[in-house]
Amino acid sequence: MTQPCVILNSIRDLEVIKMAENNMEKIVSLCKRRGFVFPSSEIYGGFAAVYDLGPYGVELSNNIKAAWWKAMVQTRDDVVGLDSAIFMHPKIWEASGHVGGFADPLTECKKCHSRHRVDHMLEEAGVFADEKMTEDEINKLFDANIEKVICPLCKGKDFTKAQKFNLLVQSNLGNLTEDWSKNPTYLRGETCQGIYVNFRNVMDSTRVKIPFGIAQIGKAFRNEITARQFIFRTREFEQMEMQYFVSPDIEMEEYEKWREARMQYYIDLGLKKENLKWHKHENLVFYAKEAYDIEYNFPFGFKELEGVHARGNYDLTQHSKFSGNSLEYVDPQTNEKYIPHIVETSAGVGRTFLAVMTEAYTEEESENETRVVLKLPVKLAPVKVAVFPLLKNKPELVEKARGIYDELKQQFMCEFDDNGNIGKRYRRQDEIGTPWCVTVDFDTMDDETVTVRDRDTLKQDRVRVIDLKNYFSEKLS
Ligand code: ATP
Repeated sequence: MTQPCVILNSIRDLEVIKMAENNMEKIVSLCKRRGFVFPSSEIYGGFAAVYDLGPYGVELSNNIKAAWWKAMVQTRDDVVGLDSAIFMHPKIWEASGHVGGFADPLTECKKCHSRHRVDHMLEEAGVFADEKMTEDEINKLFDANIEKVICPLCKGKDFTKAQKFNLLVQSNLGNLTEDWSKNPTYLRGETCQGIYVNFRNVMDSTRVKIPFGIAQIGKAFRNEITARQFIFRTREFEQMEMQYFVSPDIEMEEYEKWREARMQYYIDLGLKKENLKWHKHENLVFYAKEAYDIEYNFPFGFKELEGVHARGNYDLTQHSKFSGNSLEYVDPQTNEKYIPHIVETSAGVGRTFLAVMTEAYTEEESENETRVVLKLPVKLAPVKVAVFPLLKNKPELVEKARGIYDELKQQFMCEFDDNGNIGKRYRRQDEIGTPWCVTVDFDTMDDETVTVRDRDTLKQDRVRVIDLKNYFSEKLS
């Protein structure tokens, strides 16, 4: 983990940082122990900066994507969905500027030979820098502040000059010659290019009219230089992006609406207001009108969760130029012709996952032991209901519990568990964030009621078996 990006004011600050680092370790360990996230290719020694989702991780990730889709597509009249392919014509990446300019400044520590992003190291040292600076600009800043910069791994202070390193991942798809590196195809570095190049198709095949948006969720790939913050920065990751096409005169008005909507989205998702903040980009790319990031207070400090950017008409202008096909829009009312401007919202699934886990991870003292509980919002919880027979060796209880489980699983993600004692089963479900546990006991056999235990309040309700589906549906609605 890199040094937390916080200016130390006191011993108390140091304690807060230690606690946060500790929390990060606990979250990483829980993710592995309970089947949320596994390091990729672990039995082969791992594969840097790539992670796999385990049985509960894939559920949480799917629920995060479903919540985003609902907010961005299902409940909006002005946004439609898309799923474009990962591979695209290589010229798209020239038009977008990725082949020429999608590069981060890299340096190597001369002592331990680890590689780092210079802009990140400068920021850790309290010096403003970003990846959009030219090689000359970043080297001047690096030289001027070299005394303040230390290697995050070995604490060395001797570095090579900063060099721009292109992040696009190359492939030989469709190239059957030996030397494919001269004409590579690319694994997409972001999902939004697939949206831009389908703008005309969507316009022609649906009834959308400007202003409207196209949303998509999909994998992206980047050869990140430093990727040491668990799933925060990985080389293969998923993005949830929406591009909103507008006329130039309302771009900034729509931009403000989207800023408000996206911040509210995270609050509705269960992230605390005080853990979210805006970060304004100081160093804008030449075509951008305005750019803000939503930052979340991760265990290693406030970092980008989502970008909300007013991009002008750069993207469609570039694709018109490079493809030779005009992406001009003719307003059906006024007959005015223009290249649509774009407001973009771009979030990472992995970063949302980590933010949600950070927010949910809770330790509570109870009866001389620490209860670890993931207080996930119920709509995101991987398993909604766990069903237990009180005792494993009573066939009538097991059979009854199985019947209830078989019924409930038709509607909710459920788990059946008869291992160990009830206390152990509760602890396991608490750690994966299951909101409700249903226990079948001897009274069930007489009165057709079960105990439903609430994860957060620990309150136990007696509920009729026949009412269970409605009981959970109401709580989930
Ligand atoms: P950073 O400055 O942290 O590298 P970025 O500004 O390059 O991020 P964008 O290109 O704006 O990120 O991508 C949009 C979103 O995609 C980010 O807000 C983030 O949630 C996610 N994202 C970008 N790069 C990664 C990555 N390497 N791993 C995981 N998520 C990522």
